[in-house]
Amino acid sequence: MIAASRNGDAMRARRWLGLTAVVCLALACGPEYSPDGLYAPPGFPYNGGTTVAIDILSESLRYEFDVTNQRTTATADITFQMGSSGYPMFLMHPRALEVSLDQSPIALSALSTATPEGSDASLSVLSVPTAPGSHTLHFGFELPPGTVSYTNGGASFSFLMNDLEGYFLDKYAPANFEFDQFSLHVELEVVGATHEEQLFTNGSLQQVDSSSWNVDFPSYFTSSSPFLELTAENVKALDFSYQGKSSSFTCTIIMEAADMAGASRAQDALTQALDAMESDFGPYGHDRFLLRVLRDPMGILGGMEYCGAAWTSLRPSFIGHEVSHSWFGRGIMPANGNAGWIDEAIATWHDQSYPSTRVECGSGPVNLAAHSPYSRTTPLQSYQDGAYLMAMLNSRLWGKGGLKPLLRKWYERDNHHVVNTEDFERFLEDETGIDLSALFGRFAFGRRTSCE
Ligand SMILES: [Zn+2]
Repeated sequence: MIAASRNGDAMRARRWLGLTAVVCLALACGPEYSPDGLYAPPGFPYNGGTTVAIDILSESLRYEFDVTNQRTTATADITFQMGSSGYPMFLMHPRALEVSLDQSPIALSALSTATPEGSDASLSVLSVPTAPGSHTLHFGFELPPGTVSYTNGGASFSFLMNDLEGYFLDKYAPANFEFDQFSLHVELEVVGATHEEQLFTNGSLQQVDSSSWNVDFPSYFTSSSPFLELTAENVKALDFSYQGKSSSFTCTIIMEAADMAGASRAQDALTQALDAMESDFGPYGHDRFLLRVLRDPMGILGGMEYCGAAWTSLRPSFIGHEVSHSWFGRGIMPANGNAGWIDEAIATWHDQSYPSTRVECGSGPVNLAAHSPYSRTTPLQSYQDGAYLMAMLNSRLWGKGGLKPLLRKWYERDNHHVVNTEDFERFLEDETGIDLSALFGRFAFGRRTSCE
């Protein structure tokens, strides 16, 4: 993300943490990636029992936009697993209107918002004791006010997300923490429109007829990955083919129709950004890139990244920043809010042309990665202090070729996987044989360690 508040310059095989994962870890077998469940936030005492983070296997959403009555109807069907018995815990901003667990209706009073001790996170908990294994959930729900706009004779609705404020898909549907990778199917239908909508997405799009669409997002996506914009506004799209190092793919630039004269500038900036990232870190890892360019006459907008998509203003440095996130942030993805700093630090270090800085033992400590396990926000210090840590790492690792080739190797290994801060530190240490625990301790985990 590029934060608006920063004045425009910077803003696996699925295995639950059950027997399979534990056995696999103990034997150090299988791929080097950790299973989803290892990154799930812990359960907490609740209502005489304990909560358990669910592991979504697949989710199907349906939104119907009734333009005449300005009414939105939404449903969600989720297949999930529980690694142990307890109360299912997940994330959901919309207000539930009906809930069923394993096809049995549940009283709405059993669905509540809970805040674990020592956290300010609002989590959804279903107070129904649930056994380990596979289950289904069904919701009818109401979107939060302001998320759908009935203007221009049609409906406009987007999955707008914000890592600095810590909301992702959960603002628009029942969803999960970022550790969870799952396939998502979305159906949208507009009824009674007098203006034809357009739909833009980084998923696989099927237009059923002039007013209904199906979108399928890949199974490596997390709650912070999907881009979707249904719009009744007068926007236009420019498609062009980008020839990458190992494949060609379609790039789409979406702008207000009146601004399309600037589309070639956006195309140039996007092409240059993709060229530079491919040269430095290896082939692009998604099947398209979708750039939504927003008007920014005041120069106050930032931007936000998705997997193979972003929105930002028509400023080349901002486009470069957001494109870099398709390698770090939405290529290798944060498993939780305590890993969100990594990609903002790398993106800002990228924006600064990859400086190198001697370790400043007098500064710090900085807490980027030691917040509550339920936190979903990326700390604002990630931009300055996080980028500074990257520059210090670059200096410390200079004798091993510096940080860039290591990040390239990390991307080759972990693209499309979620990681936490400990994984990042361990990767660098394993590759170089250099102990970075004091440096990470002081400048990422906020500990009063020495830094040598
Ligand atoms: Zn960013």
